[in-house]
Amino acid sequence: MNELTHKWQECQRILKENMTSSAYQTWFAPIVPVSYENSTLVLRVKSQFIAEYIEENYVQLLSRVLFRVFGIGTHLEYRALVDSTTGAGAIIPSDGLNVEKVRKQNELETEFHSSSPVEFESQLNSSYTFDNFVAGEPNKLARTAGLAITKQPGYTAFNPLFIYGGSGVGKTHLAYAIGNQIRLLHPDKKVLYVTANTFKLQYQAASVNKHIPDFLNFYQSVDVLIVDDIQYFSGLDKTQDTFFHIFNYLQQSHKQLILTSDRSPMDLKDIEDRLLTRFKWGLVAELESPDLALRRDILIYKMRHEGIELHDEQIDYIATHVTNSIRDLEGVLASLLAYSTLMAQPIDQTLTEHVVGRVVHIKPKTIELVDIIGAVSEHFNIPSRMITGKTRSQEVTQARHLAMYLAKKMTDHSLKEIGDSMGHRNHATVIHAVSCITQQLDENEILQKRIYQIKAALQR
Ligand code: ADP
Ligand code: MG
Repeated sequence: MNELTHKWQECQRILKENMTSSAYQTWFAPIVPVSYENSTLVLRVKSQFIAEYIEENYVQLLSRVLFRVFGIGTHLEYRALVDSTTGAGAIIPSDGLNVEKVRKQNELETEFHSSSPVEFESQLNSSYTFDNFVAGEPNKLARTAGLAITKQPGYTAFNPLFIYGGSGVGKTHLAYAIGNQIRLLHPDKKVLYVTANTFKLQYQAASVNKHIPDFLNFYQSVDVLIVDDIQYFSGLDKTQDTFFHIFNYLQQSHKQLILTSDRSPMDLKDIEDRLLTRFKWGLVAELESPDLALRRDILIYKMRHEGIELHDEQIDYIATHVTNSIRDLEGVLASLLAYSTLMAQPIDQTLTEHVVGRVVHIKPKTIELVDIIGAVSEHFNIPSRMITGKTRSQEVTQARHLAMYLAKKMTDHSLKEIGDSMGHRNHATVIHAVSCITQQLDENEILQKRIYQIKAALQR
């Protein structure tokens, strides 16, 4: 080993002791000493950016190290690789090596001190997991990709994983779930959750206090970085710029990035193109608004976990009316629970409708006679014309009676109008049908169920 290499290794050893290992790995480990002649040390760096970064952030430390190892008064030049094939590069003289300044500083601090590694907290909320994330068609892609990531963070094609969707559809829950699962499967990995807003505030504080290197070191030291609500980077040029460097660094070192947003990369406003392009490098997965099946499943799941009892009719009512946000579904359950405990009253349909009415604006749906005939015909799987026709088979008669009963209960039409619409029957026939059904209703559970199902279909 020649003397230059030997001396540079000694410099690297001291540098390493005086910064976090990720900072060292990023900025100093890749440097190769080129020559040391006439008191000038030439170091090869990968890019001009690296040279500038070191000049701006580490020159004090570097000069102290160089003066100690190579001698006071050493000059420094960086050679930045411009073209990796020819090795031709720009020469950047260091203007930061100032003997006087360093001498003074050395008098004050006789020894290098090692900066203690930043305390690490993942900031994950451990109550959001895959176990309590109800699976369904609208979240299938995002959930599956998330699970795949947890097995091999950083080494799947889903890097970054960009999850987007409207408010309350489960973005934060899923992001936490991925983070928590990674910690479970890979306890040695540093997982960090941060909202875009917090990132911005931290960056701004670091910038004011001149702690940008620490800030970068910290972010570059994580194995999994989750940034929630990235749309808040909109218009923040400097924050975006810094995030861009962190993103690149992490991505290139096979560290996993998970980003969430309230809209797709294509629809993000005032975010640099180079960031948008990178957001699309991995997988862009939409968390779609919950469909009826998922809303129902989530209600049933939460109901069991929160000890609320609801009848099918109420679950259906909530699931059909509270449609966009799972947060709203939870809100309804929480209110129902509160009401029933405070008022010591069971959760019945009236209470359910009242609570749902406060969360969503329900426009009363007007139900027409034809709708009823249609719904009954669909339920019994009998053509409408048979209901309004002459057939007197038992099933058709029951269907017809039911249609008349529902028409009486659910519309304001007169008995005559109802009779007319059901194949020109007179009002006495309608009265008979309604009383028939009413009489059976108490004891006939199948009939109760039919009515409930047809009503539910009509409400949709
Ligand atoms: P977003 O971040 O998209 O606005 P959140 O992740 O905060 O939405 O979700 C809102 C609420 O809905 C949270 O309490 C979350 O636990 C719940 N939630 C969302 N999706 C599901 C799901 N698939 N299963 C269970 N709960 C869910
Ligand atoms: Mg959220």
